[in-house]
Amino acid sequence: MSRIKRYNEFSNSGLAVILLNFERMKITHESPEKRVSSFTVEPLREYTDQEGSVEASRCIGCNICTQSCPASLDIGGYIRSTAAGDPAETVRIVFENLPFPAIIGRVCTHLCEDICVLNDTGGPIAIRHLKRFAADKFDDYGTILNVPRRKFIGKSVAVIGGGPAGLTAAYYLAIQGVSVTLFETMPELGGFMKSGIPRYRLPQDVLDKEIGFITGLGVEVKTSTRVGTDVKFSDLMREYDAVFIGVGNHKARMTGTPGSDAKGIVHATEFLQRVSYGEKINVGKNVVVIGGGFTANDASRTCLRLGAKKVYIMYRRRAIDRPGYPSSNAEEEMEEAIEESVEYLWEVTPFEYVSQDGKVSSVRYWQNEMVMEGRGRAKPVPKKEKVLELPADMVIEATGQETDFSFLEEEYLRQLRLTPQGHVIVDENGMTSIKGLFSGGDSTNINRDLITAVRDADTAVLGILNYLNVMDQIADERWLPFLDRWKKYSPTAAIKS
Ligand SMILES: Cc1cc2nc3c(=O)[nH]c(=O)nc-3n(C[C@H](O)[C@H](O)[C@H](O)COP(=O)(O)OP(=O)(O)OC[C@H]3O[C@@H](n4cnc5c(N)ncnc54)[C@H](O)[C@@H]3O)c2cc1C
Ligand code: SF4
Repeated sequence: MSRIKRYNEFSNSGLAVILLNFERMKITHESPEKRVSSFTVEPLREYTDQEGSVEASRCIGCNICTQSCPASLDIGGYIRSTAAGDPAETVRIVFENLPFPAIIGRVCTHLCEDICVLNDTGGPIAIRHLKRFAADKFDDYGTILNVPRRKFIGKSVAVIGGGPAGLTAAYYLAIQGVSVTLFETMPELGGFMKSGIPRYRLPQDVLDKEIGFITGLGVEVKTSTRVGTDVKFSDLMREYDAVFIGVGNHKARMTGTPGSDAKGIVHATEFLQRVSYGEKINVGKNVVVIGGGFTANDASRTCLRLGAKKVYIMYRRRAIDRPGYPSSNAEEEMEEAIEESVEYLWEVTPFEYVSQDGKVSSVRYWQNEMVMEGRGRAKPVPKKEKVLELPADMVIEATGQETDFSFLEEEYLRQLRLTPQGHVIVDENGMTSIKGLFSGGDSTNINRDLITAVRDADTAVLGILNYLNVMDQIADERWLPFLDRWKKYSPTAAIKS
């Protein structure tokens, strides 16, 4: 079915069903007690077949949501196929731009739901949950996708980093007959999908299914191989026709708070990575997590699952200033953490980690006052007259990371243009300031979420195929990512054209 026809049919049928089903179909949660008892219990329960199709049938097919999806998915199209009881078609539509429907169906920031026109009419369509609902019906996408097995077209690309950006690039290039070699430092692929996001939010079998499907298409995978140490970057630039970097941001930023040299103080990404690779870390009874975004929430909830009795999140600004807010995703994340007993301390400045016998025992902090400075953001100013203290057997700093560019040799480091904030600058084709070198994901965009990493890779795939001058060998454009679909549905774009 053509993409336009699919959309139009849905617009017509959707208006009728909205009159029947106003309220969003409730997504049921497992109880907090059950959730914290294990890493294998997902917080949200799957929709039943009936719930899924009733929820999908509320959608009116306006496709406004596509405009806020960084990867420009055809949301109206796949909600319609879900309503029609055709999850295979849903998966096929999602795969037009994104090769991880079950992963994104669990952990996407779902900004699309925030602008759904039904927000005030029974609640937004459960777009994210419906993607999971459809994708979970299939153990092997090979049975429904009929991905073409193209012959080698004589070009090879090195992909550095096996996170969502690198995996997406590998998928769309490999199905066009490009020979792809994927280099990953860690023993397993997935990037932060594996080493950051904990298993209770993203189960291992879901990762295995979707990553396995991509690598099964003939991508050569070199895990436990760090470019810059095990392989020279300059060799890749010489030996491959193009190189894509999706190295993320894995260099931890620690606060350097006095007392930081005590045992029991760790950065959140290191902590989550160790847990994700199976280490049973003894976190003690009381844990203090510093930060306010995804990573702080995941670290705090992981500690509860490791047996902590009291977990506090300390953030120096107000709740409304936390990363990712305002969004329903940030609200849901915090609600779940509070249900599980995480306590938030807003507007505080930890100024000393106290230790006993070389091990952290408490955190001293001040309450802040938020002071407006001109028209800028309110600034936290500590009220130092009163010292407050919380017991802590462990302190986890979720205070951000930056990209580690040490894998690049000097000559490339000099040529690679970065923003003042340290992001790789790319052009509209995803190419960096170095010819033949493309980039995407957390090292490159400021959103720092999965779906934007995927969008960057989609852009770079087309950029690479153009750069390699092989677009005339593309047998069927349906297997290329469809960039900027939102323009098709945008009223302003329609007026201009
Ligand atoms: C705890 C946590 C929770 C998160 N939760 C969410 C969420 O719920 N929803 C969401 O949308 N986003 C979430 N994010 C953000 C999301 O995970 C990232 O935006 C996304 O993974 C970025 O993708 P990427 O491919 O750019 O980088 P990454 O996923 O970081 O992957 C980069 C990969 O490159 C590898 N690498 C780095 N250097 C080299 C080298 N020199 N040689 C070989 N390999 C190398 C790394 O080992 C890594 O595997 C979360 C992040 C964290 C840390
Ligand atoms: S904005 Fe809401 S109603 Fe409109 S297509 Fe998207 S999900 Fe459906």
